[in-house]
Amino acid sequence: MKTPFTPLIESLPAYIPFVAPETIERKRGIRFTTRIGANESVFGISPKARAAIENSIDSISCYSDPEWGDLREAIADKHQVHTENISVGAGIDDLLGLAVRVFLTNRTAAVASLGSYGVFHYHLDGYGVKCITTPYLNDGFNNLEALAKLAHGNASPMVYLSNPDNPAGTCYSAKDIQAFINKLPIYCMVVIDEAYIDFAPEGTALSINDLDPRVLQMRTFSKAHGLAGSRIGYIIASKEVVQAFDKVRLHFNVNRIAQAAALGSLQDPEFIQGVVEQVAVGRSEYEGLAKDLGLNVIPSSTNFVNFDAGNQVRAQAILDQLIQHGIFIRKPGAPPLDRYFRITVGTPEQRQHLASVLPQVIAEVDSVLKQV
Ligand SMILES: *Cc1c(COP(=O)(O)O)cnc(C)c1O
Repeated sequence: MKTPFTPLIESLPAYIPFVAPETIERKRGIRFTTRIGANESVFGISPKARAAIENSIDSISCYSDPEWGDLREAIADKHQVHTENISVGAGIDDLLGLAVRVFLTNRTAAVASLGSYGVFHYHLDGYGVKCITTPYLNDGFNNLEALAKLAHGNASPMVYLSNPDNPAGTCYSAKDIQAFINKLPIYCMVVIDEAYIDFAPEGTALSINDLDPRVLQMRTFSKAHGLAGSRIGYIIASKEVVQAFDKVRLHFNVNRIAQAAALGSLQDPEFIQGVVEQVAVGRSEYEGLAKDLGLNVIPSSTNFVNFDAGNQVRAQAILDQLIQHGIFIRKPGAPPLDRYFRITVGTPEQRQHLASVLPQVIAEVDSVLKQV
């Protein structure tokens, strides 16, 4: 007897592409002392978010507000748009799936950089949509020219771009992004994933003044706001796009506690500014550490830094060795960025620990690599 899965499900690989630190711990029988691999915030949450969470606990027996009332208004207010331009979801990861569903079919192909944010590609696979890719440039920037060319050449209805970028950490100015959008086919949506926008220099966020019907911006409370575990993010887009999301999204898609936490956090911009400043300190500390070790970095506009190990084998060996020492990090998977290992900005204590372990790890790796 055979279980009647669809051909699409049969065709998908059984493995899950995102290996969580908890999974690594269970598999290797180790405990991570230092969790600086998933770009989570190590700087906590706003006291206002904490109070909002505590105050919402007793209402958890009720379903959440399916239209995200007060929160949606606060978000619209922040961006000076109408509430009809905002749709909230269980993180960008959730919203990316909806975007794929709304704009793509198995007869069309998306366009993105090779090795770009994995969840987008995961959804494409899950909905049976192909993706045409082009590698990152050698310096870690998305190849905008090639992406635009691919969109035209494949008559693609969607280009995905993370700005600032994960995994690279690079970012383009809003002006460059706007020029890129102007080069895309008129029938092509561009999804700009702005998960790291809080950390980016002034002039990075795409202007929202006149909402282009082809542009979909995505934001999250997972990074600077420190609410990754609560699962909440949103899109800024035309009213039509928001209405299309309404057709397919889960009605009660974001739980009450997450909605309350996000609203509380939005009301505390000083706290977020403090996080951004602490991240900037950590970033430059990582740059100094890399320099001391003779490694280049990709200048970062995010809360992580990519260290250049020179080649993929050495980068992977350093990552494995750090994990062995209880330090969880990740690395970009595709060339040319697979020669880097990526480290999230940790607390001052975590950074100090990393700085004490990394030189020894590199020495160990290099002595082993020399023998083969
Ligand atoms: C971390 C990250 C996200 C996370 O989004 P959630 O809101 O936590 O689902 C989205 N996009 C990129 C590029 C990220 O690095």
